[in-house]
Order: sequence, then C-alpha cells, then structure tokens
Amino acid sequence: SGSWDPLYRVVLLGDPGVGKTSLVNLFAGLQERDLLEQHGEAAYKRTLSVDGEETTLLVMDTWEPEHRRRSQCLQVGNAYVIVYSITDRGSFESASELRIQLRRARQAEDIPIILVGNKTDLVRCREVSVEEGRACAVVFDCKFIETSAALQHNVAELFEGVVRQIRLRRGGK
Ligand code: GDP
Repeated sequence: SGSWDPLYRVVLLGDPGVGKTSLVNLFAGLQERDLLEQHGEAAYKRTLSVDGEETTLLVMDTWEPEHRRRSQCLQVGNAYVIVYSITDRGSFESASELRIQLRRARQAEDIPIILVGNKTDLVRCREVSVEEGRACAVVFDCKFIETSAALQHNVAELFEGVVRQIRLRRGGK
C-alpha cells in the first residue's frame, strides 16, 4: 500500500471489563497482527476490504477512566467505538456519559461513533435490552450494534460498519 493511503484512527471507549481488549484482539487477528508501540501504548493496524475497497484502520485500546491521556484519547480519533456490556447497566450509563464528553471535546465535528452492546452470549445476565441500546443510539445520533467477543458474533460487522461510517463522511476524496 502506498503512502497516499489514508489511515484512520479508531479509539475504543468504555468502562473496564466491557470487552474492549477482546474486541480489539479479534480485530487484530492472530496472523495479521501488527502491534505498534505508540508512546508506549498498544495500537493495532489492519487493512480491511469493505465493499470492494481497502481502508486501513489503526485501532487504539488505550482508554482508562482515570488515564492522564484521557483528553488526548478524545482528540485523536477519526472514529469512536463506545462499548458497554449488556450485562452491566452501569457500563451503559457510562457509555452515555462518554458520548457527552466526546461531543463536548469535538463540538463542531461530525465524527462517526458506534455504540456497541457487547457480551450478548450472556443471555441470562442481560440488564440492558436491545431496544434500550437502539433508543440510546438514536438519541445520541450514532450507529448501534450488539456483539459477542466470546462467540465472535458481529465483530467483523462492527469494524466494517466503522469503515462505512468513515467513508460516508469523507467528502471530496
Ligand atoms: P476491557 O477491560 O474493556 O478491555 O475488557 P476485556 O476485553 O479485558 O474483557 C473483560 C472480561 O470480559 C474478560 O474476562 C473477557 O474474557 C470477558 N469478555 C469480553 N467479551 C466478552 C463476551 O462477548 N462474552 C463474554 N461472556 N465474556 C466476554
């Protein structure tokens, strides 16, 4: 791939334990993993072919609620994946707060945001319904998908969705 290829930074946000690292590991894959050390933090680069066109994503799993580079995380992303666990209502409420923080940090920008309800395999522990997740995404003007990192369900679809959302906004290229 040439140096003219754009590279899009995708930042995962969400409470500890919701499955961010698990989702990123599935994105990175076992064969194609390209672990980059950026300022001592992990990011995974991978080129996805979506709808017959290739796009390179750099997925960053650096979010910690009390992290000193927290505000930096809210600045560097070209797209955001806000993850909660469907088994943890507190993480769903945190997702709303993160959406508000992101809006505040990047006021005038139209950044793609995907709200992700993870751990759908834990059916009997569900605390947040699909309808609630969907309604929240409507209110916050973002895309929505439910995933299971454990079953590898909808994970590829999640990152393909990120690529499509980025393309929808890339005017003039
Ligand atoms: P992070 O703190 O957001 O990065 O979350 P992790 O990826 O470290 O996951 C936290 C815990 O939840 C780990 O024990 C994972 O194995 C587990 N986990 C992550 N995703 C799923 C899922 O889809 N289903 C189930 N059952 N467990 C999951």
